[in-house]
Amino acid sequence: TSFQDFGLAEPIARALREENYLTPTPIQAQTIPLALAGRDVVGIAQTGTGKTASFALPILHRLLENRVRPQPKSCRVLVLSPTRELSGQILDSFNAYGRHLRLSSALAIGGVPMGRQVRSVMQGVEVMVATPGRLLDLVQSNGLKLNQVEFLVLDEADRMLDMGFINDIRKIVAKLPIRRQTLFFSATMPKDIAELAEAMLRDPARVAV
Ligand code: AMP
Repeated sequence: TSFQDFGLAEPIARALREENYLTPTPIQAQTIPLALAGRDVVGIAQTGTGKTASFALPILHRLLENRVRPQPKSCRVLVLSPTRELSGQILDSFNAYGRHLRLSSALAIGGVPMGRQVRSVMQGVEVMVATPGRLLDLVQSNGLKLNQVEFLVLDEADRMLDMGFINDIRKIVAKLPIRRQTLFFSATMPKDIAELAEAMLRDPARVAV
C-alpha cells in the first residue's frame, strides 16, 4: 500500500509528501480505507504506531468532501484524549496534515484559563481536541455545543478510563448526535473498554496491530 492508493484529497496528499510520509504504517493501512468509507472503527494500537494519522487523515478528507462553515460554539470533529500533552500533539498533527486547508482548530485542556478556550471556539471550529474534564466544563458553561459533531475520536481509551474519565466520557457521548462517525483507539481491550466501545460504536470494523 502507498498513500496514493487511498485517494486522499490533493492538499492532504501534498502535506504528506512534505512530511516525507511514503509508506502507511500497518494501523494506517488498515484504518484509513475503512474510515474513508464512513465505517466506525475500533483499533487496538499503541502510541508510536502512527495511529494519529490513521484517524486524522481520513477525517480531514471527509471534512473536505463537505466543507461547511462550523456553526458558532460548535465543532465538526471532536477528539478526546487523556492528557494535555497528547491533546497538544494530536492538534499539532491535524494542523500539520491540514496545513494547506486553512483548518480551524482549538484545544480544550485543563490547567489553562477557560476564558481563552471559550473565545477560541466562539466562532466555531472544524477540529476540537480536548481532555474530557475540561471539555465537559466548556459544555456546561455554555461555551460549546456538541450537537453538530460529525466525527468523534477516542484516543487511548484505556488510559482515559484508568484516569477516571469514564463518567465524563459517558456524559459527553450522551450529548452527541447519534448520526456520526466514531473512531475508537486503545492500547488494550479489557472487558470494560470493550463495553464502552460497544455502547459508542455502530457496527464497528475491528483493526489490531
Ligand atoms: P503516532 O503513533 O501517531 O504518535 O506517530 C508516531 C510518529 O510517527 C509521529 O512522529 C509521526 O509523525 C510519525 N509517522 C506516522 N505515520 C508515519 C508514516 N506513514 N511515515 C512516516 N512517519 C510517520
